[in-house]
Amino acid sequence: MTQHRPYAEVIGDPITHSKSPLIHNFWLAELGIDAEYRACHVLPEALAGYIAARRADPLWRGCNVTLPHKQTVIAHVDDPGGVGRSIGAANTIFHGAGSLICTNTDAAGFFAPIADADLAGAPIVVIGAGGAARAVLFALAQIGVGPVTVLNRNVLKASALLLHFGLKGRALPLDASVPPAALLVNASSLGMTGQSPLELNIDTLPKDAIVYDLVYAPLETPLLAAARGRGLEVVDGLEMLIGQAAVAFELFFGAAPPDDPDGRLRAKLLAV
Ligand code: NAP
Repeated sequence: MTQHRPYAEVIGDPITHSKSPLIHNFWLAELGIDAEYRACHVLPEALAGYIAARRADPLWRGCNVTLPHKQTVIAHVDDPGGVGRSIGAANTIFHGAGSLICTNTDAAGFFAPIADADLAGAPIVVIGAGGAARAVLFALAQIGVGPVTVLNRNVLKASALLLHFGLKGRALPLDASVPPAALLVNASSLGMTGQSPLELNIDTLPKDAIVYDLVYAPLETPLLAAARGRGLEVVDGLEMLIGQAAVAFELFFGAAPPDDPDGRLRAKLLAV
């Protein structure tokens, strides 16, 4: 396809499931920006060629990166950036000062919905130790939280992540009881449609705890339903999805996404 106007993309293999085009094109239309955001299927063996070709295209504003390229793409940019390097995975590539730079907007996207919560020194529980958990732990390390308990199937992997991000805490298996915490985050795939359920007793959480599930399919996970049932504050996975896209949008198109007080974008995402 010949491009005549500025564009950004999301690349991955597979890529048809991505909700990023809907989000970015919604904001472009709202702001009246004459640009386009599209999905591009890039196989692992085509990644180097893709970056080389786009780098030379003056209309290309950058791309979001999803599985399986989040780690391998770092080797193809000029500057991995502090965030991408620390997390060890990138989800956004953009131009900056004549260089191709990568970053990981998942950390900022995760943090945006809980930015007003006072979590400094507070105990935290994180479920999972995969790519999403890395972004979560990076963000938590930046705000100086208290001890972090990571529950994961692979306990050694969870221990290594705590060390990597300089967090105090401990790693436990998934069947360990949940300690009291100010924030509990599910950053594992458990509870996602087609995956095993997340079996967790959250009765130990205090009444002012926040329960945050990164899973957004389904949006109302059993974990969030249980938290709501106890009257706890909840944050769902769409908030992070929109938050990480907002940071990338500004890097690509130089404008902040518009406010959406009526939740029209959320409604559109839920309708697909
Ligand atoms: P990942 O790197 O593949 O990590 C998956 C995690 O889930 C690992 O901790 C893994 O445990 C655990 N897990 C998977 N299957 C399991 C099973 N059968 N039993 C026990 N543990 C299991 O995936 P990811 O990229 O971190 O994504 C995790 C979730 O976050 C997904 O649901 C994804 O959609 C969601 N996510 C949401 C957003 C958002 O914007 N809302 C952004 C990123 C990711 P082991 O370490 O033991 O293998």
